[in-house]
Amino acid sequence: MPPRQSSRLKKAIADTAANVSAPTNRTSKAKATKSKAKAPEEDIKDEEPAVVEEPKSSKKRKADKIEDEEEEEEEDQAEDEDEPVAEKPKAGKKRKTAAKAKTEDLMALAKRTIINTLKKSMYIGAHVSSAGGVHNSINNAVHIGANAFALFLKSQRKWANPPIAPEALDAFQSLSKQHNFEVHKHCLPHGSYLVNLAQAEKEKADQAYTSFLDDLKRCESLGIKLYNFHPGNTNGDSRPAAIGRIATQLNKAHKATSTVITVLENMAGQGNVIGSKFEDLRDIIELVEDKSRVGVCIDTCHAFAAGYDLRAPEAFEDTMSKFNSIVGAEYLKAFHINDSKAPFDSHRDLHANIGTGFLGLRAFHNVMNHDAFQGMPMILETPIDRKGPDGKSVEDKQIWADEIKLLESLIDMDPESDEFKALDNRLQAEGAGERSKIQDQVDRKSVKDAKKAAPKKRGRKKAAAEDEDEDSE
Ligand SMILES: [Zn+2]
Ligand SMILES: [Zn+2]
Repeated sequence: MPPRQSSRLKKAIADTAANVSAPTNRTSKAKATKSKAKAPEEDIKDEEPAVVEEPKSSKKRKADKIEDEEEEEEEDQAEDEDEPVAEKPKAGKKRKTAAKAKTEDLMALAKRTIINTLKKSMYIGAHVSSAGGVHNSINNAVHIGANAFALFLKSQRKWANPPIAPEALDAFQSLSKQHNFEVHKHCLPHGSYLVNLAQAEKEKADQAYTSFLDDLKRCESLGIKLYNFHPGNTNGDSRPAAIGRIATQLNKAHKATSTVITVLENMAGQGNVIGSKFEDLRDIIELVEDKSRVGVCIDTCHAFAAGYDLRAPEAFEDTMSKFNSIVGAEYLKAFHINDSKAPFDSHRDLHANIGTGFLGLRAFHNVMNHDAFQGMPMILETPIDRKGPDGKSVEDKQIWADEIKLLESLIDMDPESDEFKALDNRLQAEGAGERSKIQDQVDRKSVKDAKKAAPKKRGRKKAAAEDEDEDSE
């Protein structure tokens, strides 16, 4: 299989070395989010979901993305996928254990960076597929050169799921050992969207709790210590009541398990969603009895959309000091690293590729150079779907492989350097079309909202005018 060549970031390569588990005969190099043509990768054809195939240019990718985007509110890209986790590795996939993993190494899209070659210990990865069994997430992480990863522990679309098969458990453990993943530190599963711990109705609340607890137990059986989930939705009830129910469920779940830390994700702030304000997170934690079992994951896109700026270094420091004083630095456990297609404080949850959105590269430079974040899992949930030649959507995992190297290259990079500015400009240009499209939507919506409010105002004005008239008579 011919090695895939892509152009590169000099800095990324300088700071990058082959991981022990990565092949030594490959020269996979990354260049920001831009990828060049690659050879077909026939060896991974049996991997689910269908993997990268076609050469592409970043221009093409951008065009595809624009076509793909509709006006509706979109879910987190990476989180949208359904990842049915089979009860055991399928017959055809049994091969994909140790021996098979070696083959996968050989076609890794990027080598994993050895952490101690970085100036700061940033563990960067992505939310990868666990289709076919949880153990596949490790191969998928290695494939993109990730030092951290997220996964779904079961299908996101249904309540009933078979338990993890012993074979998958064993494979997860042996592969994590083989690839030197400290899963208790750098693996951050994502909870199911079906689960709303703020649910008030008894039957639905019990169903949510059962599924939540099942996920926590899966974590413990896999040796995973951090579990990320969306706090919940008030469904129109009062916020304090909903927050109280979330905490009650967490307390119950903590007692039924022993080690896993339940990590609350901050949200973008749509509708009745809980967790877009740091105060929400604080109030939940306040009610949790065992504080050692609760933490927070900051999603950079969600924070920005919710009105927490991260762009200028001063704004970033301000946001982090707010977090530290409201929630507490000790609760910060992880990051979701996403740019935002939607503007600041727009309360829209639209993930963009790193550097192409309204956050921009400077925000990620701030994050990557913040000492206190070292050692935490940093998970990309950026879009990797693009249209294939047949018009069907396919995933291009090279995008994640390149974004990981891009983020690593920001460590210790001078943001005033020509190198940084060129990178920043190029990525901003790539995302310009998408940003203005979403900006238009946001603008149109505020005009609409203003119009909706207008008749009342006119009514009041008219009434006031009539009052005046009356007064004058
Ligand atoms: Zn999420
Ligand atoms: Zn997220």
